[in-house]
Amino acid sequence: NKKLRKAVIAGNWKMNKTPAEATKLIEEIKPLVKDADCDVIVCTPYVDLSAALEATKGSNIGVGAENCHWEKSGAFTGEVSADMLASMGVQYVIIGHSERRTYFGETDVTVNKRLRAALDSGLSVILCVGESLEQREQGITEELVAMQTKIALGGVSKDDLKKVIIAYEPIWAIGTGKTATAQQANEVCSVIRETIKKLYDAASADAFTIQYGGSMNAKNAAELLDQPDVDGGLIGGASLKPADFAEIVKAAS
Ligand code: PGA
Repeated sequence: NKKLRKAVIAGNWKMNKTPAEATKLIEEIKPLVKDADCDVIVCTPYVDLSAALEATKGSNIGVGAENCHWEKSGAFTGEVSADMLASMGVQYVIIGHSERRTYFGETDVTVNKRLRAALDSGLSVILCVGESLEQREQGITEELVAMQTKIALGGVSKDDLKKVIIAYEPIWAIGTGKTATAQQANEVCSVIRETIKKLYDAASADAFTIQYGGSMNAKNAAELLDQPDVDGGLIGGASLKPADFAEIVKAAS
């Protein structure tokens, strides 16, 4: 069953790397992942996108942004629209990362608006969902993640769903070195797949890509990626280290 879905490994660089550093990092990653049997993506700060697109030209690495606004243009100082990203040749965008939700006031409703705008502009989306430690301890992880998924996908057609990936990222595992166990990751990824099945249908759910994210690294990637409902990874810290990122890509291939 898992073989039906090609794995997707995406780097989330967060607020790291200047354009010159982005070029250098991609030049280092490129030869290490060129034979990958999975999709490889790097998501970079806005200012690095031109450099990333240039450096990845002709390679098997796709380029994504880390957010986009839902309006096409206008008086929204400091924002970047999905249309602008698409016009550059950017293919992917991360939406709803927990750092956006926690530090920049994004809600399930604004996540839905951004996601639909991204799809309207022809971008593919990596939608992030996941619970805090407090929510996990309260025993509400499954309901919460199902709800985040439902609200984010409101108004998204079955056809557009093909351009969406969900990354399950428990907040307590992000940047903490504390990874979810393979079983915990698979449990929640399977709840997400079940939610997709209820919202759409079994075929859509079977084809749907679900990543795990949160301290995935060269050592723990294989076990996580081996789980039946884990189809890839969204990688923060380790995506800035070429050898580690390449190891994860290898584990997914
Ligand atoms: P991490 O970040 O791999 O550094 O935990 C993952 C993410 O935030 O996407």
